[in-house]
Amino acid sequence: MLKNKPTDSHGEEEPLKRTKLVSLILNLTLAILMGVCLSGCGISLSKLFLSQASWSPPEQNPTVQPVAVANDQKLSVVTSTTIMGDVISSLGGDRIDLVVLMKKGIDPHSYVPTPRDMAAIYDADVVFLNGAGLEENMYKAIGNASGDAPIVQVSNGITLRTLNEPSTNGAGTGHAVEDPHVWFSVPNVMHWVGVIEQTLGSLDPQNSTYYQANAAAYLSQLKQLDDWIFTQVDLIPQQNRKLITNHPAFGYFAERYGFEQLGAVYPVNPSAEPSARDISALEDVVREYHVPAVFTEDTVNPRLADQVASDTGVRVAELYTGSLGEPGSGADTYIGMMKTDVNSIISALK
Ligand SMILES: [Zn+2]
Repeated sequence: MLKNKPTDSHGEEEPLKRTKLVSLILNLTLAILMGVCLSGCGISLSKLFLSQASWSPPEQNPTVQPVAVANDQKLSVVTSTTIMGDVISSLGGDRIDLVVLMKKGIDPHSYVPTPRDMAAIYDADVVFLNGAGLEENMYKAIGNASGDAPIVQVSNGITLRTLNEPSTNGAGTGHAVEDPHVWFSVPNVMHWVGVIEQTLGSLDPQNSTYYQANAAAYLSQLKQLDDWIFTQVDLIPQQNRKLITNHPAFGYFAERYGFEQLGAVYPVNPSAEPSARDISALEDVVREYHVPAVFTEDTVNPRLADQVASDTGVRVAELYTGSLGEPGSGADTYIGMMKTDVNSIISALK
């Protein structure tokens, strides 16, 4: 995988990884020392870090070139969420070394990358991000890691929905932000598969037919999943196809499968607390539209959703949103997560 990797008789990659890590740490130390020096000259350390390159996500993915992958080596692939990790591993199989930065149960909106993540990004042959603003906190880390891996946003090319960001007085009519939760509409994940298959095949042409075959098999599973969701949704009475979720993660789902996303406890994402007025307005919506249930999620404290449900006397059910579930949960793959969520929605609304 690594371009200039030294080959030793055991095919171990630790020595070079350590060298690259040491070099990354030296660079960071140098940056800090420079900061101290500069602060003596009247320029603060925080300014230095602010001036560090922050990666800006382009709307088009870079053209990727083949990397030299030795016969006993694998392509080194890094991604952010467990959901993307599962899709990538369905295509890359045993021909890639995959590092997933966010662990299970982590809320991707608020995730802050660690120095270990920066080292993984620095060492990668390719980094796959969801894009559409999901991993906003990672952009600085990517800029600072200064590796030469192409950064590929799998959602580039998808027509994005927008969310209305609340204004500071909580009136809910601020500027629109992109809705990153594209994976809740299965055709969008089919789009991911195309992007991932093309990227892996371009980086590692000698395995491109392997990636193509895996992509074709996975696409047929996704097609079955999409069809299955439509048949399941038919079990819910039309007037009950209304979603009040913990944060507005189900816009693409609602659009594809015929629901209304009427509101959310956290109007934009779980990093921004709703006001008491927001909660009270949401409770009015639950009552007015006779919504049968409020959904919590596995990555965020359910306290406020529980409060809305108890104030309005409706049921609470949990959904997986930004992370896969643990092994045994039934939601430990993307397809399993979608089925688990659809089953929870049906039990709560039918
Ligand atoms: Zn989210």
